[in-house]
This record gives sequence, C-alpha cells and structure tokens, in this order.
Amino acid sequence: MEHLNDASHPLQHESRRDDLVDRIATVRDGETTTVERLEGTLARIEAVDGALNAFHEVLSDDARRHAASIDRQLAEGRDPGPLAGAIVAVKDNLCTTEGRTTCSSRMLEHYRSPFEATVVERLRTAGATIIGKTNLDEFAMGSSSENCAWGPVRNPHGVDRVPGGSSGGSAAAVAADLADVALGSDTGGSIRQPAAFCGCVGFKPTYGRISRYGLVAFGSSLDQIGPIARSVRDASLLYEVMAGVDPNDATTSDLPVEPPLADGPIDLRGLRVGVPREHVSDRNHPGVTASFGATLDTLRSAGATIIDVDLPLTHHGISTYYVIAPAEASSNLARYDGIRYGHRAEARPGEGLEELYARTRGEGFGAEVRRRIMLGTYVLSAGYYDAYYTRALKVRRLIKQELDQVLSQCDVLLGPTTPSPAFRLDADLDPVSMYLNDVYTVNANIAGIPAISIPGGLAEDDGEALPTGLHLQAPAFAEPMLLRTAAAIEALVSG
Ligand code: GLN
Repeated sequence: MEHLNDASHPLQHESRRDDLVDRIATVRDGETTTVERLEGTLARIEAVDGALNAFHEVLSDDARRHAASIDRQLAEGRDPGPLAGAIVAVKDNLCTTEGRTTCSSRMLEHYRSPFEATVVERLRTAGATIIGKTNLDEFAMGSSSENCAWGPVRNPHGVDRVPGGSSGGSAAAVAADLADVALGSDTGGSIRQPAAFCGCVGFKPTYGRISRYGLVAFGSSLDQIGPIARSVRDASLLYEVMAGVDPNDATTSDLPVEPPLADGPIDLRGLRVGVPREHVSDRNHPGVTASFGATLDTLRSAGATIIDVDLPLTHHGISTYYVIAPAEASSNLARYDGIRYGHRAEARPGEGLEELYARTRGEGFGAEVRRRIMLGTYVLSAGYYDAYYTRALKVRRLIKQELDQVLSQCDVLLGPTTPSPAFRLDADLDPVSMYLNDVYTVNANIAGIPAISIPGGLAEDDGEALPTGLHLQAPAFAEPMLLRTAAAIEALVSG
C-alpha cells in the first residue's frame, strides 16, 4: 500500500477541493471525458483493491458502455443529466440488474436481481456511471466490515485498521478514490460510522425521504439509503437526485424535495448548536475529545452559540435498537429458506423439510446474522414479546420525544460521530463493544431524523493520525438546515 503514501495519491490532497461537483464540471467543460475518468478509476481499483477489498464486483463492461453513451450525448449537445461524468459505487445490498447482489452472504452468493433499486435507477437516469458493488458486513449487520463472506475491507488510512461498517466498502472506495461517491445504507449508523473512520462525508436522510425499494431489508422501520461522499455539496447533490416519493415504497414522503444548498452554507453567527453532554463523555477516546474540543472552539470564534443540552436516554438507544432491529431482521430474513430464496444445502436421503431448512440457514448465514436472528426470534416469542419488543417500542417513543424536545431548543445537534477512531482489524471486539460503536448514531434511526457525519480533524492513536467524524442531527425533513450547517462547518474545519 506504499503508493497511498505517495504525494501524488489523492489521499494526500485536500480532497474536498476536488469533489464530485468539481470533477463532473471538467467533463461538461470538455477538459476530460467520462470514459477517461472511468478508465483512471478502473486502473486505481486494479492497483489498490487487492489490498483494500472494497469491491465485491467491478462492473467494467457495463460501466464502459454507459460512460461511452454519456460522452456521446454530451458530444451531440444533449444533456445526460446532473450526474453526467460521475463514477458511483453501490453497496452490495442494493439491487442492480447488472452483476450480482450478494449482501456479502453465502446465502445470496449467486443472486441476480431481476429489477433495479429505485435509487440506482434514479442515479443512472441522472447520468451516473455505476462502477461496481461494494463489500459490507453481511446483510448490513456490523460496524467493522469484518462480517463478510469474502474477506474484510481495510481502511485506506491504515490497512491494519477497519473502515467501519456496515458500508465499509463504500467508505473505503471513496477514501481511496476508487469512486467519486458511493451509496450506503444506514440502520443504526452504517453510513455515518464508516464515513467517520475513513475521513468522508456520510449522510442519512429522514426516514421516508429516499425510497428503500430494492434495498435488501434489514430493519425496515430504521433503514435509510444515503451517500458517502467527498464533500457536503456532493452528498447534497446525490440526495437531491435520489429523494422523493416512490410508488414502490409506501413509506416515502410526498413532501417536495428542495435543493438543500440553494441558499448556500448557513451563517454560523447566532446559530444555536446543541451539544449533548452525554456525547462528550470521558468514555470517548482522548483523540476524539481533543479534536471535538478544537471544533467547538472554532465554532465559538465563528460566532455560533454553543448550548449544552441533555439527552439522558442516549445510552438506552443501543438496547432499544438491539431489540427492534433483530426483531425486524428475523422476520425479513425468514424468506431465505433455500426453497423460495437463497442458498440451499444438499438434501440428504430421508431428511425432512425442517432439517433441510435448518442446515440451509446454518450454512448460508454467518455467525453475526445467526446471532441477530436468534435475538429477534427470542424477543418476538410469545412469552417475551411484551417484556422486550413492546417495551422497546415504548422506549423508542421516549427517545423520539426527547430528541424532538431538545431540537426545539436549538437548530442542530453536534457531537462526535463515534467514541473512537478506526480500531485495528485484530482488535477482536466482543459483540457488545462492537455494538457500542453506534451509541451516538443509532438514535437518529430510532427517531427517524436526518443526520450527517463530516470530517472532524485527526485523532492520534498508537502513533497514527486517524480521521474522526462530526455528527450533526436535525429535525425530521430539515435536510436543508442540516446540510447548510454541515457545509458551513466543513468549510470552517477544513479551511
Ligand atoms: N452497526 C449496527 C449493526 O450492526 C448498524 C448497522 C447498520 O446501520 N446497517 O446493526
């Protein structure tokens, strides 16, 4: 991976000065072509992805055809759409008609989707070239991209570190410049935590803002799709293309989608930034505490009003999530029985259907997915339903009320995205320590509100300087406020 230390490698540059918006402008201006950009990206994948394992499948042929057609349209003076020239990677739990959709599971090793996810269709229609499918924790369950059927993903900022998860392949691809931007999914933090670990922007919109049609379901009441990008304006552009009502997803809102950055970054003077006391706890890594403190100082000098707020239910988020998400997952994953869907174990003579199901699911699912299915089945079982599932739904309501109440006292909430920077692949965290990675991100899913992680400066860990994330949350459907604030803070922190 020495070439990542080469001064000419994109990681060594201020990547936010060379984002998707800048890059597609060079294609429109005729300085370069989509095909040329695609070939450069394919060559980088060839050079570094053996070490990173960010991609499951690179769709070179389809991407080449698509890129050529974009260039042809531009040459003929036609408008191929706002994403003409863009090279986009897609998490491998989003259905594409090209290539396979595996969810990093042996269960879906050979699955080819007969239809395309709404988001992918909207990106293509807007002119984007899809370069490939990115690696993830199996069925999006994890925080390290180690629960993968075909090997873990590595962090471009240090290849012995995890990229976070579950959208670790997407974050690593963007960080190593193997795509201009990538799609992830976020059920409890899976866009924002890997974005924080890899020094990218990761944006989870309000529940219902972006269609989930064609996203392989994990926790249906929590899942949202969003971009992992090089800048807030890139994330906003992708959001604008993907958001809006979809007849194929009944939970999508028909509120109009406004261009979120139409009025530019927000004026930080007088902006009320709520900092939850529970998010700046002394349990955070010292490097995270230091870089977050420096951000607050910068914000104060820029004229923002920092308000200390209390979110006493913060730490109940993880327990609530680990009842609701596995409950929904156990139901969503019931379809993979090897008969209707998925891998099927070799039938043995005299074996009954029950045994065949059991062996099929035992072979097809990895350990973490099996753990979630057992958790979910347990909390939904007759004797425990009220004690666990119903109670978790009540706590969910309280968490939502608490966030709504606090967000009525300030414009946005700000805290670190994660308690620590990227940990080592060999850290071998037990499940509960792994789950605690999402302690600051998970409540946005529980409450359905929009949240974004932007780069927050470096943290020193074991002699290495690693990215950290700043986490911003806003009320439901307040994407313009959230993104305008994120853009202002991004300019301040990187400037
Ligand atoms: N890390 C969390 C989990 O393992 C969240 C995953 C996600 O957002 N998809 O479930």
